[in-house]
Amino acid sequence: MKLPQALTDLIDQFEALPGIGKKSAQRLALYLLNVPQDRLLRFSQALKDLKTRIKKCENCFNLAEENICPLCEDANRNKNVICVVEDPLDILVVEGTRKFNGLYHVLYGRIDPLNNLGPDDILLPQLFARLSKAPQEIEEIILATNPNMEGETTAMYLKKRLEEFQNEKGSKFKITRLAYGLPMGASIEYADYGTLGRALDNRNEF
Ligand SMILES: [Zn+2]
Repeated sequence: MKLPQALTDLIDQFEALPGIGKKSAQRLALYLLNVPQDRLLRFSQALKDLKTRIKKCENCFNLAEENICPLCEDANRNKNVICVVEDPLDILVVEGTRKFNGLYHVLYGRIDPLNNLGPDDILLPQLFARLSKAPQEIEEIILATNPNMEGETTAMYLKKRLEEFQNEKGSKFKITRLAYGLPMGASIEYADYGTLGRALDNRNEF
């Protein structure tokens, strides 16, 4: 039996999304067939608006509806502390901690030699262009790339480049990396040696 073309087209679109297999794609398409038309229109409108209404902030490259994102617009935030993250969603999580009052820089990826992604394939040149505007005013750069091999590679590379930048511009700022440790609610028994070793290295006075 062959499904109607309109349905097959939709299934193909779903199947092209990450993490969705053929069965899930079919289920989603059939589910949408039973959804009221006005909801479908809202869904398709949201898809249409996705690329046209969303821009990247000209300063930090966070997703925004204006040229400058609300975080960069906020006069209460410390513009001289910059937290470098891999993806815009990372900002949401850091903001959720309510412990950070600086600004961000989104790299949109990580250095990943196995997949041929080098420093110029992510928004690193943009970071240095931004820092060059007022190199003496920078207080701290926080390297908040992921604690995996690619994130580490990116952080190491960035640290080296930032140190060169400091030498070149005669500026002094702290370069920090998020601490490694045990996740909340975890038990030591199940921790891997790498995580536990890092947690020991970074232990705090209690
Ligand atoms: Zn911004």
